[in-house]
Amino acid sequence: MDESNSDLQSQVARARSKPDMDVEKTALQKRIAELAPLLVEVSHEIHANPELGYEEHKAAALLARVMEEHGLEVQRGVADLETAFTASAGVGSPHIALCAEYDALPGIGHACGHNIIAAAALGAGIALSERASALGFRVSIVGTPAEEGGAGKAVLAEAGIFDGVDAAMMVHPAPIDITEPPMLAVAQYRITYRGRTSHASAAPELGINALDAMHIAYTAISCLRQQTAPTDRIHGVINRGGDVPNVIPEKTRATYYVRSKTASELKTLAKRVEACFEAGAIATGCELEIDSDPNVYHEVIHNMAIANAFRANLEALGRVPLPRNLVDPKHAGSTDMGNLSYLVPSIHPMIGINSLPAVNHQPEFAQHCVSEAGDKAVVDGATALAWTTLDLALDTSLMNAAADEFAKVIGAKATRV
Ligand SMILES: [Zn+2]
Ligand SMILES: [Zn+2]
Repeated sequence: MDESNSDLQSQVARARSKPDMDVEKTALQKRIAELAPLLVEVSHEIHANPELGYEEHKAAALLARVMEEHGLEVQRGVADLETAFTASAGVGSPHIALCAEYDALPGIGHACGHNIIAAAALGAGIALSERASALGFRVSIVGTPAEEGGAGKAVLAEAGIFDGVDAAMMVHPAPIDITEPPMLAVAQYRITYRGRTSHASAAPELGINALDAMHIAYTAISCLRQQTAPTDRIHGVINRGGDVPNVIPEKTRATYYVRSKTASELKTLAKRVEACFEAGAIATGCELEIDSDPNVYHEVIHNMAIANAFRANLEALGRVPLPRNLVDPKHAGSTDMGNLSYLVPSIHPMIGINSLPAVNHQPEFAQHCVSEAGDKAVVDGATALAWTTLDLALDTSLMNAAADEFAKVIGAKATRV
């Protein structure tokens, strides 16, 4: 066989091996359908054992075990976080990260449905890992603890876990399908007032009332709300208000969340809220201690190139995402995925579990997270994530469009800050 003939043969072989998107997508869907009973079991087990941020030992161990049983090599405890992990498969580019959250809320368990997030990422990750080497791309399942507070993804990003990643994605349950949900930036505060105790009846003039300081701050913030943007949110709880009525409270504590449309707008609002905290101290003579979480959650920058691909994939599964013009910017939460969206092209779509009137963070929503619709969201979420990863892996023009859009949006943010 001469040289040119062998060249020709390898060209023909390459052309023959060029993956067909439809064939690959059908195969992924079939594989996820086979995995469905296991994914639902994992989802339900995480749901039955709710664990708070950075304490998700059972969930992280379960996910790691299932991944290992399916041939993935898992690195546990990455970034010095006991309940974080990564598992990667494949070679080449792009490198896509699928984020799995699995933390719960105090008192109301999995009322944000992170069991669905974890199981969907698991299903997509396993199915993709079996094709990644053959198709020449990389996929990682990243176990990201403490989304509900603690900014696990920001900590992981700082430790370099997402270095070299070309795009990141996840799905989050919600009452209905929304592919680009508005997500606000949020700063988290713990505040403490320290005064002086005294007999509340016999010698009140000797006391410095830390509850009064808290009351003034609470009232000042309530007034401030009237003069803020409609998408700003300020909300808090008093964790400690005193012990008994006949002792002037010496120490009070509160936790506050302050949210704004963007991280840069949040800086201005945060200063105004801090002034309200100071007002309490000035009026009463208490000492004020402000302890703010160093990791401010950023708003999510939805990468529209990837979001459009995800939307088309959801529609191909027979789902009907809320039309973009009907998305209400006032109904917004926050997520540490926002911080990731500043670092790599990202999406954070919501997958519907048909829970209305129940919404996230209500006990009724937790029940819906293991319903038939909740289980379907696991399978559809996994399939849509896998398909979107495949879109990016096999369609270079889509990956390039996502990267160009990301560079443009981040560039514009940098000049504004
Ligand atoms: Zn939540
Ligand atoms: Zn959540």
